[in-house]
Amino acid sequence: MNKRAVILGAAESGVGAAILARKQGFDVFVSDLGTIKDKYKKELTDRQFDFEEGQHTEEKILNADLVIKSPGIPDKAPLIKKLKEKGVSIISEIEFAGRYTSAKKVCITGSNGKTTTTLLIYHMFQKAGLNVGLAGNVGQSMAWQVAEQNFDYYVIELSSFQLDGMYEFKADIAILLNITPDHLDRYDYKMQNYVDSKFRIAQNQTADDLFIYCADDPVVKLEMSKRKLGARCIPFGLGVPPAEGAGIIDNNMIINWEQNIFTMSILDIALQGSHNTYNSMAAGISGKAVNIRNEKIRESMADFKGVEHRLERFLKVHGIEFINDSKATNINSTWYALESMTQKTVWIVGGIDKGNDYSELFELVKSKVKAIVCLGVDNSKILEAFKTLGIDMVETQSMEDAVRSAYFLAKNGDTVLLSPACASFDLFENYEDRGHQFKQAVREL
Ligand code: ADP
Repeated sequence: MNKRAVILGAAESGVGAAILARKQGFDVFVSDLGTIKDKYKKELTDRQFDFEEGQHTEEKILNADLVIKSPGIPDKAPLIKKLKEKGVSIISEIEFAGRYTSAKKVCITGSNGKTTTTLLIYHMFQKAGLNVGLAGNVGQSMAWQVAEQNFDYYVIELSSFQLDGMYEFKADIAILLNITPDHLDRYDYKMQNYVDSKFRIAQNQTADDLFIYCADDPVVKLEMSKRKLGARCIPFGLGVPPAEGAGIIDNNMIINWEQNIFTMSILDIALQGSHNTYNSMAAGISGKAVNIRNEKIRESMADFKGVEHRLERFLKVHGIEFINDSKATNINSTWYALESMTQKTVWIVGGIDKGNDYSELFELVKSKVKAIVCLGVDNSKILEAFKTLGIDMVETQSMEDAVRSAYFLAKNGDTVLLSPACASFDLFENYEDRGHQFKQAVREL
């Protein structure tokens, strides 16, 4: 009798997992508690899968041999608890896909910068002519690609939720960008649980594999002093370059790699700001590790277009530059956005607070920001945190209003920065919606 795979969640990763599971000889059942998007429903119907939506029929789920769960479903969900009690193995789509491919896997995690770094590496590998797929939080489902394509490399963005469902999976190249508090609600409000989750990216690695990490990040650094990882560990940071790894001398990025030195002026890198220097260093080391020529690495860093909603320089209106950093949903990412501002800035901030400590931004705001436009249902914490600065602070209730107020407060040569440091769900569907509304409002000025 065939083994039974149950897929929980029928979006990109779930449908991909269903396709791969069938190809590997499993009997497959797909269940989604919500509404399945038309595109995926059509795929499941056309391919004649047994599936349901709007419910989880326990009789059809609890007898699974293997459950592949969407990272969005928390471990505390009652159904997951029941499956665990029965001892059913519950894994993530990436874990599942990893079992059926011999392609080399470059995996990226961190609290911030994952998507940017993943897309930069993907761009670099493509430019170098490598046969590469893009998977994880961005791009297509990895399982789907493993089932229907034949790549030599995968570049994979991994959130901590995805890493939580990974056990046998091994990254050939793992990148850990940084660890700052985020999503702690899913980790019993214990930072160490979140740190452990991030370090799962190094699980099962041996001396033939690489673990590329940010040596400037205090949490990563402390954890590295406590752990003995199996992989060859390669640091990067903004200080003097190590014998093996990346650093900076006089505005030049230097990567020391196996008797070969890569250099590039950071002024020639398309992505600006010190956070992006970190991302670029991590990407550059992975390029060296798969033998991409220096010239190609340089070219791809110089012409990478960046990613929408991440410090996206959108438009200049009457000499005022509008920057969309809607993806900045925590203090750390906004810290880097403010740090990279070179002109006087009107800062649009606010949304759903995730337990933010605004004092971490105080000095930067003092030196860079000329006015604050609050955009959230509850702005009291922000108003309180910066009231002693004596700068203009206004409260707004819609993006249109916020953009107009910012435009009014800015002068020729200034920058208007949307970098909310908060989640978007009070006034918007998600951060993309927030970013799109920002750009629309700017266009209408
Ligand atoms: P993620 O996929 O981890 O959420 P993104 O690349 O989407 O990361 O960027 C999210 C936000 O974090 C953006 O506002 C971006 O400008 C900022 N950011 C990007 N890289 C870093 C980094 N290395 N450290 C801190 N913030 C960063």
